[in-house]
Amino acid sequence: MSTLATPTASLDVLAIAAHRDDVEQTCGGTLLKMAQHGRRTGILDLTQGEMGTRGTTEDRAREAADAAKILRVAWRQALDIPDGRVENTWENRLKVARVIREQRPRVVILPYWKGRHPDHYTASTLGYEACFLAGLAKLDLVGDAGDPPARLDSRQEARATRLSPHRPFKIIYATLYYDVRPTFVVDITESFEVRFQALMAYKSQFSDQEAGKDLFPAQAEIRARTEAMARFYGLLGGVTYAEPFLQKEVGLVEDLTLIPVKSI
Ligand SMILES: [Zn+2]
Repeated sequence: MSTLATPTASLDVLAIAAHRDDVEQTCGGTLLKMAQHGRRTGILDLTQGEMGTRGTTEDRAREAADAAKILRVAWRQALDIPDGRVENTWENRLKVARVIREQRPRVVILPYWKGRHPDHYTASTLGYEACFLAGLAKLDLVGDAGDPPARLDSRQEARATRLSPHRPFKIIYATLYYDVRPTFVVDITESFEVRFQALMAYKSQFSDQEAGKDLFPAQAEIRARTEAMARFYGLLGGVTYAEPFLQKEVGLVEDLTLIPVKSI
């Protein structure tokens, strides 16, 4: 008999992205800010970065763990979806849905659904459909890597508890990789510097070196770009630095006098 798993501690915010370092680039400041406000945050990387020009999978795993520490995330995991081949298949949707049920996030941050890199825009649809599946009461998903119960011995079966359905309340899209007008920005003025350090934790990707130097800009250049983007979105929100997001729903307002961002 399988039992319903009781979650130990659910996440307030879970950011899902195709590659290790995507979250650091698109919404790391927001995650850090949430953690500083006492929220429990997490990151799910869909791939392990084995196609990267620089560094091994092990390098990137270590760097991702360092970055997670800097951003104060409570939970981080990388799935085994092939790098450069993120596909919206039933199997991949179930992998992500299992994580949604295990971590039970209130808010999920997905990549924006358009972009240059197919892994990025596919991760968006894959993530959305996985959030939907995770809430289906009649869909059985088993924890512990999800082996079908028939193939488990009794010890494994005891661990393989059925995960109860969960659907996040809110899904928002991080739009920094794409030129689209955000529906809101998050003020990261206070967390910008530390968030930049989290990005620099990916030493195999961002330290100045010979391999792939036509593809990878030097550190000073990355600093300038990161700052320019954060400043641009900051300007839109009337603050110094910000990160852009899009929500499909309309905004709900209780008191007109408290709507932020000056009009004139
Ligand atoms: Zn990426």
